[in-house]
Amino acid sequence: MSRVYNFSAGPAVLPEEVLEEAAREMMDYRGTGMSVMEMSHRSKDYQDIIDEAEKDLRELMHIPDNYKVLFVQGGGHTQFAMVPMNLFKNKVGDYIITGLWAKRAWKEAQMFGTANAVASSEDKTFTYIPDCSDLPIDEDADYVYICLNNTIYGTVYHELPNTKGKDLVADISSCFLSEPLDVSKFGILWGGVQKNVGPAGVAIAIVREDLIREDVLPGTPTMLRYKTYADNGSMYNTPPTYIIYMCGKVFKWLKKNGGLEAMKERNEEKAKLLYDFLDESRLFKGTVEKKDRSLMNVPFVTGDADLDALFVKEAKEAGLVNLKGHRSVGGMRASLYNAMPVEGVEALVKFMREFEEKHVK
Ligand SMILES: *Cc1c(COP(=O)(O)O)cnc(C)c1O
Repeated sequence: MSRVYNFSAGPAVLPEEVLEEAAREMMDYRGTGMSVMEMSHRSKDYQDIIDEAEKDLRELMHIPDNYKVLFVQGGGHTQFAMVPMNLFKNKVGDYIITGLWAKRAWKEAQMFGTANAVASSEDKTFTYIPDCSDLPIDEDADYVYICLNNTIYGTVYHELPNTKGKDLVADISSCFLSEPLDVSKFGILWGGVQKNVGPAGVAIAIVREDLIREDVLPGTPTMLRYKTYADNGSMYNTPPTYIIYMCGKVFKWLKKNGGLEAMKERNEEKAKLLYDFLDESRLFKGTVEKKDRSLMNVPFVTGDADLDALFVKEAKEAGLVNLKGHRSVGGMRASLYNAMPVEGVEALVKFMREFEEKHVK
């Protein structure tokens, strides 16, 4: 077996222990004689799996009792629609546009009512987080929407926006469980799990109970109502059973490894290794404003597209894979999710140093 260091932005690296345990349980899950994939979602064994996953997530994030945890199919893009469909009363949403994913969410909401862009950093290719201390929040806004960590551009909010009393909805896909977060500051937190939590295909929505409403926009399909998930333990229909099982394993791994405080420390250590190198490098440089740097996604460039391409190619040959940047930024991007070991980042920095020696006279 030969494993690489996988810097993919998502689907992304998972803890090896988790993959190994899943492999061991593949043919016979704990004496049931079958794989979790083959199991009825109405069985006691599966009920235990989903209950425990929710319980562990609640513990990890200290989720208050008045928030529901919902496992929803369809990933991130489905949440772009579910948020306005479920929260639009006045049919007004205020969006802060800090990257492609926030923009997609904003565009989606426009199908259902008025979606205002109350701030944007598109003027500088999303390389910073705009000042959100005094935004022109619409009096009628049903919520204010942000993307907390911008996967493509590598920025993160270090301070939450002043929503002037409106509920805050946040897409936390790429920083999910990377550090502690005060859930009570949000109306809804949702994250696609394929970045930092599990395999692709599920978003976990953490929704304050009063936002789970009967009176959603007319025409909202059953499977796009938060209430359907809340009333049925996320099992109104057949849920993505195997993905939820894998997420549950990752939650256990997080608990075993010290929880989110420990993850934060580890993630800071890893990001520091790379950022410190970028700050002193004569060849590579980071692309975003230092004050807004993400711990999870680190874009960088050499300034020469051919050299960038050569770097990505040679890095791959050295077992450091998926370092090509998103097409809208170019250059490189290293995603340093929870499951990326410190050794992976050390290997990357060492490789970058050697590449620099070779290419800078
Ligand atoms: C990847 C990503 C999305 C899109 O998720 P899909 O599951 O592909 O729809 C949305 N938001 C953020 C922050 C992401 O990183």
